[in-house]
Amino acid sequence: MSNQNLTFCESRMKSYLQAIGRRIKIARFILSISILSSFLFTGCKTPSSKENDGTSNKAFEDYSASFIEALWKQNPDWATTAGYHKYDSILVIPDRNSINASLKFAKNQLDSLAAMDPKLLSAANQTDFYLIQNLLKESQWNYDTLKSYQWDPSSYNVSGTFAFILTENYAPLDKRLKSINGRLVNVPEYYKAAKNIISNPVPELLNLAVDQNLGGLSVFENDLLDSLKVSTLSASEKKQITERSAKAVAAIKDYTKWLKELKSEKPRSFRLGKELYGRKFAHNIQSAYTADQIYDSAVARKEEVQLKMALISRQLWPKYFGTKPMPKDSLELIGKMIDTLSVNHVKQQDFQTAISDIIPGLNKFINDKKLITLDPTKPLIVRKEPAYMAGVAGASISAPGPYDKGGNTYYNVGSITNWPKEKAESYLREYNHYIMQILDIHEAIPGHYTQLVYANQSPSLIKSLLGNGAMIEGWAVYTEQMMLENGFGNNQPEMWLMWYKWHLRTVCNTILDYSVHAGNMSKDEAMHLLIKEAFQQKAEAEGKWKRVSVSNVQLTSYYTGYKEIIDLRRDYKAKLGDKFNLKSFHEKFLSYGSTPVKYIKTLMLEK
Ligand code: ZN
Ligand code: ZN
Repeated sequence: MSNQNLTFCESRMKSYLQAIGRRIKIARFILSISILSSFLFTGCKTPSSKENDGTSNKAFEDYSASFIEALWKQNPDWATTAGYHKYDSILVIPDRNSINASLKFAKNQLDSLAAMDPKLLSAANQTDFYLIQNLLKESQWNYDTLKSYQWDPSSYNVSGTFAFILTENYAPLDKRLKSINGRLVNVPEYYKAAKNIISNPVPELLNLAVDQNLGGLSVFENDLLDSLKVSTLSASEKKQITERSAKAVAAIKDYTKWLKELKSEKPRSFRLGKELYGRKFAHNIQSAYTADQIYDSAVARKEEVQLKMALISRQLWPKYFGTKPMPKDSLELIGKMIDTLSVNHVKQQDFQTAISDIIPGLNKFINDKKLITLDPTKPLIVRKEPAYMAGVAGASISAPGPYDKGGNTYYNVGSITNWPKEKAESYLREYNHYIMQILDIHEAIPGHYTQLVYANQSPSLIKSLLGNGAMIEGWAVYTEQMMLENGFGNNQPEMWLMWYKWHLRTVCNTILDYSVHAGNMSKDEAMHLLIKEAFQQKAEAEGKWKRVSVSNVQLTSYYTGYKEIIDLRRDYKAKLGDKFNLKSFHEKFLSYGSTPVKYIKTLMLEK
């Protein structure tokens, strides 16, 4: 699959990569591509069972507000893309001074936190406390141990925030152009500092840096100049911006040229290495499990899922193949059944409508089965994908950023009407009759959209900025299974088989990521895993290899979150016995906002 064929989950991944990119910017100064949507993550107001007279909460909330102000001052780019525009005209130069300033910031803030006792806080504040603490520790670790600012040249790229300021309509164009004028000044120094700090870069990340920086040139060479034409700035201001922009372009070109000519004595491997991987997993995913445990669990899950798929395929064989002999090899058998079932798909021109048409049925099913309360005052607004998002097919949720409370949340559904026939056919086979429904469950109801509505019931800026990706993705993955368990799709074996295939990708993402970065998995071994054992198309598998060679850990978030939720449900059931009710479990779980599942677990199982 090409980039445009990103599956739903994959496109969500991309947006999390961006979100994570913004977080890590504390350590890496990177600018990620502008965010089309950011999610509002929130907390809940459940009081802690511990003694609580309110003064501790008040003190923490004051601290939290001042922390965010300080965070923005320290990270102007992150502030801009989060919708806080006080520092738009500042571009931080990524030199030793700024690293020291970031380390000092982390230490001071951690000292402030150390003076407070999280046990005295409400559940919502307690989880905010841990999210802040984790972010700061991660930042320290990034600087003193991981040091990716030295070996990852792709962490230096200015174009993303410039593009964000140009395209997001949060202020009049002239005002935004003035900010751009301000931040342009430091671009040459920015790249000079990057060249000073880079040593023995990872070759794959070096290539990525070249591609992405060159890709970002159009922001200056086209978009900025076009915007200048329609602005009402004075002629001298326009001239100044044009000149500064030309210097920025020259600096970017010089950086990419320098990278291409760079001779490293011993370039760092793209593999993170077992020890760093374990630490990064702990910081990023914030799971109760270690990376090793999640890997072992994913391997066992893969075997289990393949076994179930073989059983279903044997059962379905006569229906689709009559008396034709069944392949002896069970993976081959499953592959044949999947190929056959994938033919059941809508017509190219009907794709967009078909995706929207599934939603009312999901609503009804959830209400009939009493799986979770869907707020009738907040129906999902389905819209045809807006032009600026065109190209990303499938479906995605756009939610307003944390500083844009009045904004609408949309379910964007893309069209593939204008795609070439062959490309569309391959996409439609992937998003066949069965997978389309699972896509809507994952993305919309009761997956991401429903989670978002619950999270918004008591907003916390901290959770909206630092919310846990594994919890969010884990919930969406969990709901797919939960809907099928409750009879969605009439328990059709076809539906289960296709879901298992979809689910296997989540499982294999974890196996792949761990095996490559904590182990030594070769490309051939990776291809075998994805194509033979997880039934993926070659192009999709190739794309995944490329991705795992320039990213790490994030691919494990889906399966980890899913597993933790399944485990929590089991434990909660054991705790409540006859009193267990699935609907209350879901509503209670979601009431804590986008908090790492391990904290929700403690809060739900305590007492
Ligand atoms: Zn997702
Ligand atoms: Zn077809």
